[in-house]
Order: sequence, then C-alpha cells, then structure tokens
Amino acid sequence: MNLDRIRNFSIIAHIDHGKSTLADRILEHTGLMGDRNRVAQVLDDMDLERERGITIKARAVEIPFASANGPFQLNLIDTPGHVDFAYEVERSLQACEGAVLLVDAAQGVQAQTVANAEAAQKLGLRLIPVLNKIDLPTARPDEIAEELHNCILLEDEPMTISAKTGAGVAELLERIVEKVPPPEGDRAAPFRARVFDSVHDDYRGVIVYIRAIDGSLARRDRITLHYGGTDHEVLELGKFRPHMVPCDRLEAGEVGYVIANIKTLSEVVVGDTMLHRGSDAAHPLPAPERPKPMVFTGLYPVSAADFTRLRQALERLSLNDASFTWEPESSDALGFGFRCGFLGLLHMEIVQERLEREEGVDVVQTAPTVTYRVQIRDGEEVEIHAAGDWPDPATIEEVREPIVRAGIIVPVETMGSVIGLCLDRRGSHVRTDTLSATRVEVFVDMPLSGILYDFYDRLKSGTRGYGTLDYEVTGWQSAALVKMRILVNGEDVDALSTIIHRDEAESAGRAIVKKLKQEIPRHLFAVPIQAAVGGKIVARETVQGMGKNVTAKCYGGDITRKRKLLEKQKAGKKRMRQVGSVTIPQKAFLSVLSREEK
Ligand code: GDP
Ligand code: MG
Repeated sequence: MNLDRIRNFSIIAHIDHGKSTLADRILEHTGLMGDRNRVAQVLDDMDLERERGITIKARAVEIPFASANGPFQLNLIDTPGHVDFAYEVERSLQACEGAVLLVDAAQGVQAQTVANAEAAQKLGLRLIPVLNKIDLPTARPDEIAEELHNCILLEDEPMTISAKTGAGVAELLERIVEKVPPPEGDRAAPFRARVFDSVHDDYRGVIVYIRAIDGSLARRDRITLHYGGTDHEVLELGKFRPHMVPCDRLEAGEVGYVIANIKTLSEVVVGDTMLHRGSDAAHPLPAPERPKPMVFTGLYPVSAADFTRLRQALERLSLNDASFTWEPESSDALGFGFRCGFLGLLHMEIVQERLEREEGVDVVQTAPTVTYRVQIRDGEEVEIHAAGDWPDPATIEEVREPIVRAGIIVPVETMGSVIGLCLDRRGSHVRTDTLSATRVEVFVDMPLSGILYDFYDRLKSGTRGYGTLDYEVTGWQSAALVKMRILVNGEDVDALSTIIHRDEAESAGRAIVKKLKQEIPRHLFAVPIQAAVGGKIVARETVQGMGKNVTAKCYGGDITRKRKLLEKQKAGKKRMRQVGSVTIPQKAFLSVLSREEK
C-alpha cells in the first residue's frame, strides 16, 4: 500500500468512555471481525483488563477500509488508558499521525481526556474529537462539546456517534481518512523502525511491535536494537488482523510485529530503534528511557511455606511486565519476602491482583513508599525504596521526594473541599480552569506520597463519585522527611516503619497505634504500642493484660465445643506473627495501610 493510502491512529479516552467498544465496531464495520469469530473487545485480551475496563498492553490492528475515495490501510494502535503507563501511551502515540479523542457524551470531559489529548497534541498528532454514547437519554452533546472547547484547542467540531449501536462509525472512518495525515517516510532509505511495545509469548518468545519509519524489513534480515545493543535475525514478521498474520515485508509507514528469537522482555526497551545490522547510514531515533518504578512495597507470602511459589509467580509476572521490579528482602515480623517496584498505584494493584488470581498466592503487603533521594553528608546520593534502608539521620544532609502535577476534574461546588484535601497532603494549588457552568479542573502540585494512601477514595467520596484525577511526576523537592518506627512491647516492628513528613509524624503515629491497639489481641501481660521518631516517642497506646484461658469458660463440660474452640484458635494462629513475646495478627499490618485522617 502506498504511503498516502495509510492512516495510523489511536483512540484516546478516559476509562469507560467506550474505546474498546468503538474498536470492536470499527473492526466489524470493516469486515475484519465477522460475527463468527467475534470476541467482545478483542483489543483487551486479558481477563483482568476486561473486568476493570483498563488496557495494560498496547495492541495494533491493521484494518483494510474501502472508503468513498478508494481503499485505505488503517492501523489502529491501542494505548494503555492509565496515568501509570504514561510512558507507554506516549510510545504508542508516537506510532500514529492522528488520534480519535473519544468523550462520553453523558459523563463529559474527564481527567484522562485532558491528559491524553495534551500528550497527543504535544507529539503533533491530529485530534479528531468524538462524542460517544449519543444513544443514551442522558447524553448532552452540546454541553460536552462546549467543555471540550474550553479545555482543548480543537480544529473541528466534535462528531457524535454511538459505539454501541454503530451510529456514526462509518462517518468517523471517512473523517479519519480525510483528516489524519498519511505517514511520512522514505521507502528507499535504510530501514529504521520504532519499537512501541513488546509482549512475551510462552512459545515464541518476545514479540516486538514496530512502526516502520523508513525503508523496509524482510524475513531473515539481520537486525540490531540500537540502544539495547543486541543483534537478532528476523524469523517471522507480520501484521495483526486482528490475529497475527505473517507477511513477507514491512514497509515504511506500516505497523506490525517481529519475532527474532528474543528470550526475555528485558532485552527489548520500548522506544528503541530497530535497524538493519551494520547500517550506519540509518541514524537512530531519539534515545528511549525506561520508565522507573516510583512506588515500592514489600510483598510477603501469607504462609511462609509459599515463599518459593511467590518467587516463581513474580518471575512469571515479570516476564510479561518489564517495568515491574522485585528483589528478595526479609523482615523480622513478616519473614522472607520481596521488595517490589511499580510505576504507580494502579500498577501495584494490578500486579497484586494478578498474583492472587492467576497465581493463587496470598500475599501480605507492607505500607507502600515512594522513591526518596537521600543526600548523605559525605556527598553521595542514595535512592531509598524501603523504610528499613533509611540511613542514620545523623548522616543525612537532605532528602528529596517526587512531586506530581495533578489535574482533578470536579463539580464546581466540591472544589473547595477537594483543594482542602490536597492542601492536607502538602499540596499547593496552581490554578483552576472552568470547563462549564457546573465543572472545573483544579491543578495542584503535591508530593507523590500524598496520593499513595486513600487519596483516590477520598476524592471520590468528596465529589459524590464525580471527581477524576490524572497526574504526572514533574520533579523532586526537598522535604523534612523522617523515619517513624513502631514499637510493640519495646520491640521494633520493621514492617510497620514508614517515612513521613516531620509535621505529620505525631498525628499519623497516633492513628497507627490506635489501629494496632484494636487489632492486637490481649496477652497475659500489658502490651505497650509506641510510635517513635529518632529517640522520641510521638504516640502511645497500651493493650491491657488479661490472665484468662480461652477455654476456661467451657467448664470442661462439652468436649466437642472445647475442641472446636481450640481448632479455631489454631487456624487463627496461622495468620499471626510473633514479635518478641507478642503475637500480632497479619490483619494488624494491613489495617495500618489504610491511613485515617486526623
Ligand atoms: P473503555 O474503558 O474506554 O474501553 O470503555 P468500554 O468500551 O469498555 O465501554 C465502557 C462501557 O460503556 C461498556 O459498558 C460499554 O458497553 C458502554 N458503551 C460504550 N459505548 C457506548 C455507547 O455508544 N452507548 C452506550 N449506551 N453505552 C456504551
Ligand atoms: Mg477498554
């Protein structure tokens, strides 16, 4: 297909605005997906994604389209929908010349609508605004069009469609052909392609997704991944229609996959440049950077016997997710486990859910922490991912923490309380944009750690479910951060240590010891629970002692009842951890994670 007959585009949308449904309609309309082999939402093929309505991995489908102006080749490149994967969104958008900006005509513009639209415009993509779900009685296309104009610079009036009924989809395809520019590229030049994604397949190894920029690639060609510095031979190349179909050649402007006997995902950096081996004439595209994990947590098996299973499960997961990191760590309270790094909170939730669902391993998670950069007095800077690694305070010169710029779209009457919530988390208000008479977008700079705990839940409850949030890490800022330790009966419970702002230590410490008091059962002796910063106790509670035997009230009368009680107690003990002479239920560790407000 000639370059001027190719259109590469993405659909960008806030979660649940209908991206997957529209993709299905497009495939149906162009005959690529007959009713026979129809699987709802082909683009999201992991169960978890389908259930949660998010797309973790980018996909690409080549769609033949017979337009009013002749045949075209459309390449629909799917983007992951969430802020944690902003880097992958950008790589996918880089493979396109245009993007359909899809907005639910009943819900209106949301935080990720704006964030994705800005990302696409920054990369020079042509935006095609589209209002979806026009079939709903609650759809307000005129108002939502107004909102769109208020926050995004658009070249066209939004079109209206229903991805559910298919109304307007044919017109949308014609508009894509008309408005999205064809790819630029030189098919006679040396081969150059951008790697925009990769997935691991148990049988075929790594499947690399590429967008060819110049030249062409054929089977048996020898290739180099420029920045990764590895050489390979192309065993198979092809396109997604929507399933993998091998072809002889991928040419400039086209999108497809390459299989080249690559064993692990870590060998392929998303954003790398693929070249013919030894072709120094082909200059590489700008260097990619690997997204760095920003949120860390300890994952421990609920039962110590599951340690090996957990390790194998993590190994398998990281085969499919190169941005997730893990290494062994141990804790006095929790035994042997792993310190794991994630791109963000949602990424962390997804991994934990997959561990439990796909791998069947129950895990205990310790308090999440962000990456801290600690400047040591002698001049060295260290990155800290766990409270346990916090340096001796006497040696610390300065601590810096990641700062995010958050965009939060809320009903105008809840604006005050949302800004209040952000200020509570050490945020500062940057500005507020008016979207419509009823809604605003509030921009706030705040520490990433401020959204680590229940921020999203609090935002939802404070806005009756209407608030949406998007954020990006914008830099590092110095802060008065300290390590707070929790002592139970005088013993340090390392799993409960946290890094916290000095001004928040007392109130957070009080909340933690109070929660622990509710969760730690009474022992024969009184158990003091303390929160300490350095040598100073900032909060304290005591679990009163009790001298009774649980079976005492059975009076030795009914032996079966007595036995049942003892068995129940034994089962309960499985989920207990011993700290010194005190038994702490695992529930106690978990309860500390959901930090309550002062
Ligand atoms: P995604 O998260 O953007 O991929 O959104 P989905 O395609 O999964 O759609 C989210 C929900 O909206 C699903 O329940 C869809 O059935 C529904 N939906 C999508 N498009 C339409 C539409 O045009 N009309 C109506 N009524 N519902 C729609
Ligand atoms: Mg989807």
